[in-house]
Amino acid sequence: MDIPKIDLPRIVVIGCGFAGLNFCKKINSQQYQVVLLDKNNYHTFQPLMYQVASSGLEADSIVYPIRKVFTGKKHFHFRMTEVQYIDPSIKTVHTSIGDLPYDYLVMATGAANNFFGMDNMEKHAFPMKSLVEALDLRSIILQNFEQALNTESVKERESLMNFVIVGAGATGVELAGALAELKKYILPKDYPDLDIRKMQIHVIEATDKVLGNMSENAAQKSEKFLKKMGVNVWLNTRVADYDGEIVTTDKENLHTRTLIWTAGVKGNVVNGLDASAVQRNRVEVNEQYEVKGHQAIFALGDVARMRLENYPEGHPMLASVAGQQGTHLAKNLNRLAKGQNMLPFKYKDKGTMATIGRNLAVVDMGKIKFAGLFAWFAWMFVHLMLLVDFRSRLVVFVNWAWSYLRYDKGTRLIVRRVERKKPAKKKVLQVAALEEE
Ligand SMILES: Cc1cc2nc3c(=O)[nH]c(=O)nc-3n(C[C@H](O)[C@H](O)[C@H](O)COP(=O)(O)OP(=O)(O)OC[C@H]3O[C@@H](n4cnc5c(N)ncnc54)[C@H](O)[C@@H]3O)c2cc1C
Repeated sequence: MDIPKIDLPRIVVIGCGFAGLNFCKKINSQQYQVVLLDKNNYHTFQPLMYQVASSGLEADSIVYPIRKVFTGKKHFHFRMTEVQYIDPSIKTVHTSIGDLPYDYLVMATGAANNFFGMDNMEKHAFPMKSLVEALDLRSIILQNFEQALNTESVKERESLMNFVIVGAGATGVELAGALAELKKYILPKDYPDLDIRKMQIHVIEATDKVLGNMSENAAQKSEKFLKKMGVNVWLNTRVADYDGEIVTTDKENLHTRTLIWTAGVKGNVVNGLDASAVQRNRVEVNEQYEVKGHQAIFALGDVARMRLENYPEGHPMLASVAGQQGTHLAKNLNRLAKGQNMLPFKYKDKGTMATIGRNLAVVDMGKIKFAGLFAWFAWMFVHLMLLVDFRSRLVVFVNWAWSYLRYDKGTRLIVRRVERKKPAKKKVLQVAALEEE
């Protein structure tokens, strides 16, 4: 890879999510040469991705060009490339556009979907872990209604208008709420020839509550809000299989052409680390983010597992954790360059929140817990402020204000047609075919 060799130690950063972005902003590039690698040329604000999927926001409101963030930063280079593996023995990163030696390596590659070995689920479900997947989901939701208009089969129509979300964490709950709003305010106007009352939204959760990582208060309130909005909430329900048409659970089977998978993620670990450094699909790090058994390699954010007394399974996979870690490691390496010690990381938990819909949200801030309209304003304010720049904030704010005042959403576009994987042929049909022969 063609990066100039200069008389400064080189830090290679893989991934420009919340961790990589904050790290690169805060690292002193007078003391280090910084090379940032990402397979995309943009940073994604994942917490608002469900709004892209549900036609609430256009994609470019929640992504930001990486080159624009770092315009003018000295000794800084960005290359759009996918890292294939690393070779710690020769301190080199291997990528789709060539090899790159490093002095320090920062792995901030985030997380990927985890289907827990369910091959059928992986084949037929729609996940929402990247911008492309969110856009696919938006297209398929709208394609369903276009197709529902043109089918004479009641069963097929219902299957197209049923949406099953697996996982009642923040993503599942927020998406279910957004779909319920589409059903109430938007779809009846867009599809007057369809009986939109037939549309059903199901959320399936294996544990006994929604928003499992939040307080009991938040869990109860959000379940109540969802039910009030007409969402069917299935708690203590395990999904066993999905063939593209039928969701098999340990309670009832549901017919749907659209199963949305929000039930699991795993660290996006780049190949090349010692096996002992990877536990439970995340990279084991100490309090200075150093990867177990490796020198000069650090891991941050979702991919890293820093086990502490108060976080025995590592920190939660949250944007705030990743962002704080990125900033903290940069400050540590800046200290190291001045001959000072690196300091241990302490996570400042500023609270957790989720929105369910118009005027409805839940907020946990330490001992303070609230829900409803005020929580919804707090949720909007925090998310607006977390966006990368003023332009994005303004665009999102105007979109939200428009939607709120006009009961409308502006981006109901099928920008590309998404093809479903063909469901496996059913055994009965195969038998019937044999009999015909
Ligand atoms: C739908 C959704 C909603 C969420 N909502 C919230 C929320 O409301 N609040 C909250 O706190 N958190 C939320 N999260 C979690 C939060 O987004 C993550 O915790 C956070 O993004 C982790 O940051 P990161 O920097 O570790 O990884 P990421 O932000 O995932 O960034 C990883 C980066 O690495 C790049 N990359 C990965 N592999 C490679 C490779 N091999 N080569 C090159 N580049 C690579 C990717 O392109 C990406 O840019 C949500 C996540 C999702 C998916």
